[in-house]
Amino acid sequence: MADVFQRRSGRGWRLRQQSLQLLHQWQEILHSEGRAAPVQRGLLLLASSAEELERLTRLKHGRQPPGAQLELMAAESLQQMVALQQLPPLPGEPLGGLWSARDGQLDPIVWMQALQDSALANGLQRSRAVVQTLNPQGPRWVLELSTTEQLNCDWVVLCAGLESQTLLHGLGLQWPMEPVSGQALELQRRPERSDWQHPMVWRGMNLVPRPGGRLWLGATVESGTVTNGDELEQLRQLQGDAPGWLLDAEVIQRWQGQRARPVDRPAPLLEQPLPRLLLVSGHYRNGIVLGPASAAWAADQITMVNSAVAGS
Ligand SMILES: Cc1cc2nc3c(=O)[nH]c(=O)nc-3n(C[C@H](O)[C@H](O)[C@H](O)COP(=O)(O)OP(=O)(O)OC[C@H]3O[C@@H](n4cnc5c(N)ncnc54)[C@H](O)[C@@H]3O)c2cc1C
Repeated sequence: MADVFQRRSGRGWRLRQQSLQLLHQWQEILHSEGRAAPVQRGLLLLASSAEELERLTRLKHGRQPPGAQLELMAAESLQQMVALQQLPPLPGEPLGGLWSARDGQLDPIVWMQALQDSALANGLQRSRAVVQTLNPQGPRWVLELSTTEQLNCDWVVLCAGLESQTLLHGLGLQWPMEPVSGQALELQRRPERSDWQHPMVWRGMNLVPRPGGRLWLGATVESGTVTNGDELEQLRQLQGDAPGWLLDAEVIQRWQGQRARPVDRPAPLLEQPLPRLLLVSGHYRNGIVLGPASAAWAADQITMVNSAVAGS
């Protein structure tokens, strides 16, 4: 969600817009290498209340980024799409919606694989060892690995999720982050006739149609590391608004994870705590969408310092 982000200025907004552009560029590069990294463009936000409809209307009439294609949809138009089987029966009784043509969804596992394969073909070396400590040694870094080996490097980009704070703690630095758990479901829908292809969002819950009549449904937002079965059931029932076809769908997979949320700082953490040490973490709920812009930020920092050193 880049064009439908609630703000139209500031760092979060700029990072989302940059990610949107980079995703497009990366997709072309991966494609030219013969690697598939699909993006399903198009997203429908449904208004469950008058306040939400007002918010969507403000988004449509506010300042638009170049190329954004936002369209307000009346409740009647949505129901007509249901009647024409372009959408399945909708949750609750939406008062309207906002369609965004450039936002959408991708499969992060497929993308990570494509990016890794591309990077390996371009010289990336990978180690599966756990980093135990980061030690500055003159202008360089020495990483102690769980394999008892050491890794010497010019730069460290620390993107170890919640564990980043532990490694920084070893250097006497405090960048606190807290875990926020999330649960999500994959469901198999019973055969039905609608030609539904784009994700829709109802009360902050994402319904993402997948190939073969499958559906991703997510995600809960739960403080701490312990997840709650009731929260998952609430999600499954869209807080009481689930249409019949969703209640009938069979759960085929469930998963959970922990998001890293910075304490007393806005997400994400894009910082340089020490020379040649970059912290790229604390993305909270947006590590996939902000991944490209975060990587670009790290690359820019390294290029800037290296160019200054080369020029001096
Ligand atoms: C249910 C759920 C739904 C979500 N939905 C979305 C969504 O729709 N859109 C979105 O943008 N984001 C979403 N997120 C958030 C997103 O998944 C995260 O922001 C993102 O995965 C963070 O990526 P990361 O690489 O920073 O951290 P992580 O994914 O936590 O990866 C950290 C990595 O560092 C490794 N590591 C840790 N310690 C060490 C060490 N000492 N040495 C070596 N390696 C180490 C770990 O093994 C891991 O591989 C969701 C999260 C959850 C839980």
